[in-house]
Amino acid sequence: MSGTEPGERPLLSIIVPIYNEEETLPELDRRLIGALEDLGETFEVILVNDGSRDGSFEVMSAMVARDPRIRVIDFSRNFGHQAAFYAGLRRAAGQATILMDGDLQDPPEAIADLVAKWREGFEVVYAIRKHRKEGFLKRTAYSLFYRLLRSIAYIEIPMDAGDFALMDERVVRLLRGMRERNKFLRGLRSWVGFRQIGLPCDRGERYAGRPKYSIRRLFRLAFDGLLAYSYVPLRIAFVLGLLISGVSFLLASVYFLQRIFSPADIPKGFTTLAILVLFLGGVQLLTIGLLGEYLGRIYDEVKRRPEYIERTLLNFPDV
Ligand code: UDP
Ligand code: MG
Repeated sequence: MSGTEPGERPLLSIIVPIYNEEETLPELDRRLIGALEDLGETFEVILVNDGSRDGSFEVMSAMVARDPRIRVIDFSRNFGHQAAFYAGLRRAAGQATILMDGDLQDPPEAIADLVAKWREGFEVVYAIRKHRKEGFLKRTAYSLFYRLLRSIAYIEIPMDAGDFALMDERVVRLLRGMRERNKFLRGLRSWVGFRQIGLPCDRGERYAGRPKYSIRRLFRLAFDGLLAYSYVPLRIAFVLGLLISGVSFLLASVYFLQRIFSPADIPKGFTTLAILVLFLGGVQLLTIGLLGEYLGRIYDEVKRRPEYIERTLLNFPDV
């Protein structure tokens, strides 16, 4: 059994966030450990239990008891998938660290290819999704998102690359030092630079259960956050601004046509005034709302709350 003796540093750390995956965990255990053993390198697997409400923690505890190479970080509640990855990054001991989802959409067998590229000298090797086996709506939403992000981001973020990636310890050290709270790991990963390469990889179907991030949940999460932390007024300004800008554009077109085709029906100057008032009002609200979006994020940063809280650690050598 290739593995890590106490105190020995593994070559690879694999971080897997887990939220309500009790049906998938045994299969993940089998396939991931199988793939890693085939590779024949020393490794540790860090499962991050992100406040699962099902029996995931019990399954993980059993895995840990059987296999000294598996470790668990147990969060005090659900902090989200990015926070889970980040917690893992902070505790990863490997010379290279791999992030992957726990639903087997990221195939463990691809780890060998990631490692091979790393050995060629790349510090970041990320998987690019060749095919998404998700519904049309979700695929379109993702595709729109990545295109929008690419067009407005000030760094080069590769298209269709998710979190599934290998990072050299140097990159991991840098990411650990990042102080920002709203982490978007695949963005930070691009931001740090180094030699990076994308590796086309099939994204499989989720092994069991429903996605923990449905589109509805994504929106609801966004809304929960809004209500709980109350940037609501700011966001309302933004939405109102959008609506009013849209309506004002329509109205402006109507008034304009009216002015041209039946000028007798309306008093002089009315059209110009109406268009100006509507348009300026809309644009002002829109921009205030946009400022609010940034302000909200700044508020988050200055509070300096921890991104996650660890309740227990299982099987970490030095705790
Ligand atoms: N996950 C998590 N916390 C959450 C939501 C999801 O740790 O709040 C985990 C989940 O268990 C899975 C991974 O993150 O291992 C990806 O989640 P999911 O498959 O739902 O996302 P999708 O594939 O739809 O992007
Ligand atoms: Mg998934």
